[in-house]
Amino acid sequence: MTQSDPSDSFVPAAHPSTWLGVMGGGQLGRMFVHAAQAMGFKVAVLEPIADCPAGHAADHLHVAGYTDAHALAALGQQCVAVTTEFENVPAQSLSQLAQHAFVAPAAAAVSVAQDRMAEKTFFTRCAERSGVMPAPHQMISSQADIDALPDDLFPGILKTARMGYDGKGQARVRSRAEVSAAFAQMQHVPCVLEKMLPLAYEISVLAVRGADGEAVVYPIAENVHRGGILFSTTVPGPNVTPDCAAQAQAATLQIIAQLDYVGVLCVEFFVLSDGSLVVNEMAPRPHNSGHYTIDACVTSQFAQQARAMAKLPLGDVRQHSPAVMLNLLGDLWFKAEDDQPREPAWEKLLALPGANLHLYGKDDPRRGRKMGHVTFVASTLAEAQQNCAAACHLLGITA
Ligand code: ATP
Ligand code: MG
Repeated sequence: MTQSDPSDSFVPAAHPSTWLGVMGGGQLGRMFVHAAQAMGFKVAVLEPIADCPAGHAADHLHVAGYTDAHALAALGQQCVAVTTEFENVPAQSLSQLAQHAFVAPAAAAVSVAQDRMAEKTFFTRCAERSGVMPAPHQMISSQADIDALPDDLFPGILKTARMGYDGKGQARVRSRAEVSAAFAQMQHVPCVLEKMLPLAYEISVLAVRGADGEAVVYPIAENVHRGGILFSTTVPGPNVTPDCAAQAQAATLQIIAQLDYVGVLCVEFFVLSDGSLVVNEMAPRPHNSGHYTIDACVTSQFAQQARAMAKLPLGDVRQHSPAVMLNLLGDLWFKAEDDQPREPAWEKLLALPGANLHLYGKDDPRRGRKMGHVTFVASTLAEAQQNCAAACHLLGITA
């Protein structure tokens, strides 16, 4: 376990400023920047593309590749602590940063989450204590692996072992021949074949662990995906039973402890039609399904990220309002009738009770691209759901 010493804390200071760093310039980095700045920190971002959501908000932007040794040294020297906003940050870069600054989460934990096979092996090992197994699966790195596949893995989903997100790098397969074809289409990169499971619904659990080993866990989020992309998150989840919630939270606390993790971790689970839990994957960073915490919880996932990396006390995870979070994809910027560009009806959206709009400052909308989200909070879940349904209607989203 990591040493706990309160005197290690990095408190915000003005002269000289206390800087926190983040690898990656996307929307998760941007929301982290906002939260850390609100606490009085200065924030530096490292990202190869100058025009990026986090860069527009940051106090300093290092425009450089994620493996640029010079830029990594500069970021590490500037900052007391560095975190990441995307899981595919090269683990080697995090190790390099660790020579200069406190890095949370550490390279070792991030590298487990970067590889589906390593992740599943880790989950299987955790299952002794967490009681929750991953889906039945097999590693695929050659035709011989495909020939040896057991029949009961079909129908299945072939997923690239690395670099998958938002359902990219996945193919549904019904036979060995289809696995061969999909494997060829994926350029024979290492893959995992997972059995397709009968999902009743999907949940995710956000946990935060400090450098002293203390961990907290948020309420369960119930998620709906469309086309492999998160569509909405509802908390409390209408389908989530107290037993399911307790089991998923306990499993997540086991997982975060066994990883010796510092920071915000999100673990995705499937709930099957018989009520049993299966662990899907984890993200070593704040997560899209945790965006509701900004408007509905005492402490947001991004404020927790800043607290954990600065070795400050973790915040209260209590949810004060029921919430529904709806992702706003680039599709909304095109008219359904003729595909012409349009600006969504923000004034009407903002007129709905309990609407909290978050746009990420991206100026080139594309279909399927996450442009922002809106979280509806209300005193009852039914009310938040109603307002979200009204938002879908006026934005032209099929609820
Ligand atoms: P993201 O990073 O956006 O969470 P991803 O590309 O890493 O997504 P997964 O989370 O593995 O992909 O899968 C995306 C979605 O596909 C899941 O949320 C689920 O709806 C469906 N899915 C994945 N694996 C299975 C499975 N074994 N059985 C049934 N459905 C599955
Ligand atoms: Mg997923």
